[in-house]
Amino acid sequence: MTGAPQRIVIIGAGQAGGQAAYSLRLGGFEGEIILVGDEPAPPYQRPPLSKAYFKGELEADRLFLKPLDYYAENRIELVTGDAATAIDLPGRQVALASGRQLGWDRLVIATGARPRKLALQGADLDGIGELRTLADVDRLKKLGVPGARMVVIGAGYIGLEAAAVGQQLGLKVTVLEAMPQVLSRVAGPEIGAFYTHIHREAGTDVRLGARIEAFEGVGAVTGVKLADGEVIPADFVLVGVGVLPNMELALEAGLMCGNGVVVDAAMRTSHPDVYAIGDVAWRPLVHYGREGRLESVHNAIEGGKLAAADILGKTPPPLEAPWFWSDQFDLKLQTAGLWTGADERVVRGEPASRAFAVFYLKEGHLIAVDAVNSAPEYIVGKKLVAAKAKVAPGELVDKSISMKDIGARASN
Ligand SMILES: Cc1cc2nc3c(=O)[nH]c(=O)nc-3n(C[C@H](O)[C@H](O)[C@H](O)COP(=O)(O)OP(=O)(O)OC[C@H]3O[C@@H](n4cnc5c(N)ncnc54)[C@H](O)[C@@H]3O)c2cc1C
Repeated sequence: MTGAPQRIVIIGAGQAGGQAAYSLRLGGFEGEIILVGDEPAPPYQRPPLSKAYFKGELEADRLFLKPLDYYAENRIELVTGDAATAIDLPGRQVALASGRQLGWDRLVIATGARPRKLALQGADLDGIGELRTLADVDRLKKLGVPGARMVVIGAGYIGLEAAAVGQQLGLKVTVLEAMPQVLSRVAGPEIGAFYTHIHREAGTDVRLGARIEAFEGVGAVTGVKLADGEVIPADFVLVGVGVLPNMELALEAGLMCGNGVVVDAAMRTSHPDVYAIGDVAWRPLVHYGREGRLESVHNAIEGGKLAAADILGKTPPPLEAPWFWSDQFDLKLQTAGLWTGADERVVRGEPASRAFAVFYLKEGHLIAVDAVNSAPEYIVGKKLVAAKAKVAPGELVDKSISMKDIGARASN
């Protein structure tokens, strides 16, 4: 590694890149910080894009992580609308699409992820889109007039959140999910069954195990054709089938990549002066003894803070268990931990009451919790997940025992 850095370049001005810049300044870095983003907007939060912003309840500038003045006041050069096109590791340069060349002493890759596309006939018709950026949702908002038929492909968080807003905006909504359960990648079957019921009750046609064959239409989409020949009429289609990490720059530069840019616990890549953070990073998941790529605000913020601390030679912030949330209708789902690998699930409360939690255990230890409108279950559950605490399923299920008491009795 070289000596004290004078100039730090951050590629990707999103949640993670923005956080890295803020943490560097807050941490006392006095040198140059250049934050390069290919979108026209300054760093902004994406969660409201499929929630309040899609619904029309928030103005775009309320999404910005910091007011525009912040960047000049804190001597962070914010470059917007310009993409990094190549990283030269030996020469310590980044090339931008505008032709500018930026030298760096430390480089942070925070390029996020992009929506996966469906390689189906008609996929390039007008009216078929994704939901990742402000521009995406502004396009959707124009199409989402009351009575319009919206078909959502993929019942993950983003698809279901958009479907819920669609219902609230007076659209006719169909959700097509290939798996037998909604939210199958992120939650267990109880949560899946609950949300299927909630969306159906609200009037959405939720199809599970759906096989999509093609998009129909001339110029613009008019329908989605299923494998059994049925055509679901559509005025527009939202495709929400997961994301791919934007790791091409790193890969071409020769950095070690798998399903993301491979980093160590300090978010350092295979080059000691280059970091990768946020959705693009394949990082150690210390609470689970394995590695993985997370897609969440918590992960982006934590990565930004970890990289900044390492660059500045400071003590890293304490690591939290991964956490996430999703707002659909009047329901707040809060998740702590990762449920994959659970060998036991315990439901606390009645799903019919619209307030309940599912605890996921592995060999008696709590590894994750999904809490629907249940703050104590989430708050205490999150602490127990982080501590890998051993909890008695019989206590978890018993609502007469408070979460506070369950937390106090849990052992490691
Ligand atoms: C609609 C939606 C709803 C979500 N809801 C939630 C939620 O409720 N809770 C939660 O925890 N998480 C949620 N997330 C996930 C969360 O927003 C992401 O995990 C987070 O934004 C990741 O931060 P990031 O900085 O890694 O990526 P991003 O925020 O995507 O930022 C990356 C930026 O880098 C830019 N970029 C890429 N390549 C280049 C290049 N070559 N040069 C310059 N710039 C480049 C991208 O255009 C982008 O602006 C949601 C995401 C979406 C899309």
